[in-house]
Amino acid sequence: MTNIAFIGLGNMGGPMAANLVKAGFKVNGFDLVAASCDAAKADGVEIAQTAIDAVKGSDVIVTMLPAGKHVLAVWNEILPHADKGVLIIDCSTIDVDSSVQAHALAAKHGAASVDAPVSGGTGGAKAATLTFMAGGSDAAFAAAKPVLEKMGKKIVHCGGAGAGQAAKICNNMILGISMIAVGEAFTLAEKLGLSHQALFDVASTSSGQCWSLTTYCPVPGPVPTSPANNGYKPGFASALMLKDLKLSQEAAKTSGAATPLGAHAAELYTAFEQAGHGGTDFSGIINYLREQGRK
Ligand code: NAD
Repeated sequence: MTNIAFIGLGNMGGPMAANLVKAGFKVNGFDLVAASCDAAKADGVEIAQTAIDAVKGSDVIVTMLPAGKHVLAVWNEILPHADKGVLIIDCSTIDVDSSVQAHALAAKHGAASVDAPVSGGTGGAKAATLTFMAGGSDAAFAAAKPVLEKMGKKIVHCGGAGAGQAAKICNNMILGISMIAVGEAFTLAEKLGLSHQALFDVASTSSGQCWSLTTYCPVPGPVPTSPANNGYKPGFASALMLKDLKLSQEAAKTSGAATPLGAHAAELYTAFEQAGHGGTDFSGIINYLREQGRK
């Protein structure tokens, strides 16, 4: 039987660990927050007193933490106590540089490592339908895949160390920019007296077609399941979109890539968050765009 240690039992990690229990793995979990530990315990996760206790005797370690500094701190803490030949998988969304550093740390301790950030949100975490974007060696990916498959439905090997994080932030930069583009188009259509449905019917079958329009339409009506029909309740909160856009801009800066629209998208989501909308679904940016127009 594979023993799994799971560190970080928050909104995403909690349900992901629960799915590993359902799949028949023995899961030892740890989180700094007692309430998260209690919820995971109710789902069959055995709670350890410390992260170090959780990893002792484990074949696989999964981390699901807020940011790069947390991942590096936890990996530094636990790797000296992990069993020889352990596989360590980080599913957090973090900056590419920290991810590469984490892989190097694992190699120093003789551990195989994979970065495997996810898309699909808390709904996907609960339903075990997440998409994993993985980075690491072929051997490490092959070992991680059977574990990731119990928490998701699509697992993509994107390349070497940090490639999963790179794929995640590039994808989400497209998403942030395209949501603003779709929001701007509806805002302009309103000023021009064009109905939401008419713009949707044309653009969704024309060259303006994109996921932000056809699956996640930022105005109520054309796509009944989009958060716009539910008061812009997330979904995918603007604060998380802003986090990913900031990561894309850090990576653009260090790598020397020109991403002017990504930079502007980050500025707009910063303003939206500062206006008190960090908890609003990211498609709610359309309301901010409307407010910027001439009355
Ligand atoms: P969360 O804040 O709910 O959970 C993070 C958990 O990590 C918290 O419970 C916290 O107590 C714990 N933690 C922090 N430091 C720790 C330490 N040293 N030891 C043990 N536990 C520690 O966040 P989340 O929504 O679960 O997101 C986790 C990661 O997944 C983030 O990187 C986020 O960007 C990414 N992500 C989130 C979503 C989403 O919809 N929530 C979607 C995709 C990706």
